[in-house]
Amino acid sequence: MPTYKAPLRDMRFLINEVLDYPAHYARLSSGGEATPDMVEAILAGAATLCEEVLAPLNLSGDREGCHFKDGEVTTPAGFRDAYQKFVEGGWQGLSFPTKYGGHGLPTSMSVFKTEMMGAANWSFNMYPGLSLGCINTLLKYGTEAQKSLYLPALVSGEWTGTMCLTEAQCGTDLGQVTTRAEPRPDGSYAITGTKMFISAGEHDLAANIVHIVLARLSGAPAGTRGLSLFVVPKFFANEEGSLGRRNSVSCGAIEHKMGIRASPTAVLNFDTAVGQLIFEPNKGLEAMFTFMNTARLGIALQGIAHAEASFQGALAYARERRSMRALSGKKEPDSVADALIWHADVRRMLLTQKAIAEGGRAMIYAAAQTADIMFNAVLDEDRATQVEYDNLLGFYTPILKGFLTELGLEAANLGMQVFGGHGYIHEHGMEQMVRDARIATLYEGTTGIQALDLLGRKVLIGTRGKCVRDFTRLMLRFARPHLLAGGCLGAMARSTVKRAIEWNLLTLRIMSRAGRDRDLVGSASVDYLMYSGYVMMGYFWALQADKAYKYLSSGQGAESAAFYCAKIQTAEFYFDRLLPRADGHRRGALAPARSLMQMDNASFAFP
Ligand SMILES: Cc1cc2nc3c(=O)[nH]c(=O)nc-3n(C[C@H](O)[C@H](O)[C@H](O)COP(=O)(O)OP(=O)(O)OC[C@H]3O[C@@H](n4cnc5c(N)ncnc54)[C@H](O)[C@@H]3O)c2cc1C
Repeated sequence: MPTYKAPLRDMRFLINEVLDYPAHYARLSSGGEATPDMVEAILAGAATLCEEVLAPLNLSGDREGCHFKDGEVTTPAGFRDAYQKFVEGGWQGLSFPTKYGGHGLPTSMSVFKTEMMGAANWSFNMYPGLSLGCINTLLKYGTEAQKSLYLPALVSGEWTGTMCLTEAQCGTDLGQVTTRAEPRPDGSYAITGTKMFISAGEHDLAANIVHIVLARLSGAPAGTRGLSLFVVPKFFANEEGSLGRRNSVSCGAIEHKMGIRASPTAVLNFDTAVGQLIFEPNKGLEAMFTFMNTARLGIALQGIAHAEASFQGALAYARERRSMRALSGKKEPDSVADALIWHADVRRMLLTQKAIAEGGRAMIYAAAQTADIMFNAVLDEDRATQVEYDNLLGFYTPILKGFLTELGLEAANLGMQVFGGHGYIHEHGMEQMVRDARIATLYEGTTGIQALDLLGRKVLIGTRGKCVRDFTRLMLRFARPHLLAGGCLGAMARSTVKRAIEWNLLTLRIMSRAGRDRDLVGSASVDYLMYSGYVMMGYFWALQADKAYKYLSSGQGAESAAFYCAKIQTAEFYFDRLLPRADGHRRGALAPARSLMQMDNASFAFP
């Protein structure tokens, strides 16, 4: 079984040297507590929790899974104790307001912590992960009474939260939701319906579960315009926080599924369960989007988490396992054969994993700064900044969620491949990562849906390409001073300029054709998303290489010369071998929709 070591050196390189988090925190009115010492303490504390408590439960949790009996769910051995340690450490409240018992640190701190937790044990991470979105929704849209009733226990981790959107007939198309909400004389609502696939919908880790439920008020319009959002607790809480009687929401079953088996995926029956309206009637989806954006960034982290964990396992194996001799001659003459890591094709797999994990980490940590500024603006009641950074985050989110989860799955698969046949065997833990990573491209909006959101809503309709122009301006600004430089940094800069121009042209060409061909956006969208992801990751690799050069030549960085050299070499690998994939996606995005759409539905198969 692979042992997980938190990649603290890479995290510190990004935090301190590439993205200059100390200066970023200093600019936030809420960043005062986020001193370098505090960041260091958080990184070290989270690493210990993840390496010593969560990672050792990953394989056993998968093997045992969750148990369902008489409506109750029991988590695998060790999960309750681990969750208790998580709560005692105050980890849930890291980035939530002190008013509700949190530590009031910027959101990005929670991102650093979540990445480590996810890599150590994604199933475990699901329980507090779902709570994050629940808390954010209540913080933004809850009434003062709802906030004071639910937030302290959610923020401490004593209670957990869920998001209840999906029903049997709909996951993507939430306009089909049929769960009903009837007003009650006391101002509350009776919720009736069945939700399915609800992560952490029922379990034994916390005393109470707070469900955020999408339902339809009687007489509401059909479709998404008639959806409202409700908060429905498993147990009613009294004002002083103690638990009262049970609400009529029950768990009917949990799914038997491919991966994340230590996380229960529940069928929840709401049988006139009592809940309260959040936000305004029929504006549930609008409020739910806070939940979805936070959750989607969390799922983007899943791609990185699995890429990192699988890379660590594969690297250790490739250094130990011996097979044949390197093509360029014996490398380890005293051994019976050379280690796998000497073989070019194994190096291709390892470097792909490394480039995905570290490139994706840079993308997410940069997006986390945007989230910090956005949440800070909410606290400062600075509406203009909030909207500006929310829009920016809205552009990042589908790219990060769609692209990084697809690549995370590829990286997990490669890790299994490095193990050869042993990768297919459960006890090594590599096949579990593939199974666990698989869900990330499905839930919180499939890759196809992220792609439609990116190209349709964010790029074409929302901004008519402005979001791409804004981002590529950053790329050009970075690349310009290096254009005449020799060596690989100059080459990366020239490639960055070419891609910046190309991304805008691609967007313009799709925009000009989309008016004439209504199927074009749907047919181009996934290729467009993947293209955008590769180009964006290229920029973040160039940025990392640039910083590594600077610190290497000045000798003033916190890291060793070998670390900086490896950064530059990984960037070169990315530009040589992964970025060219963007060309295929660009061509795919520009291909006419006709070859996709022309076949008659009946002609797909001739049984
Ligand atoms: C383990 C697990 C945990 C989950 N956790 C939660 C949870 O906590 N809460 C919750 O509410 N839900 C949860 N879900 C549900 C999950 O979010 C949905 O399954 C997902 O959004 C996809 O919806 P669906 O299954 O209905 O697929 P469908 O919507 O039926 O989609 C099927 C396929 O068609 C494609 N498709 C659908 N519509 C379009 C379109 N208009 N254009 C192009 N392509 C389209 C999709 O991309 C997909 O490939 C979970 C699911 C699983 C398996």
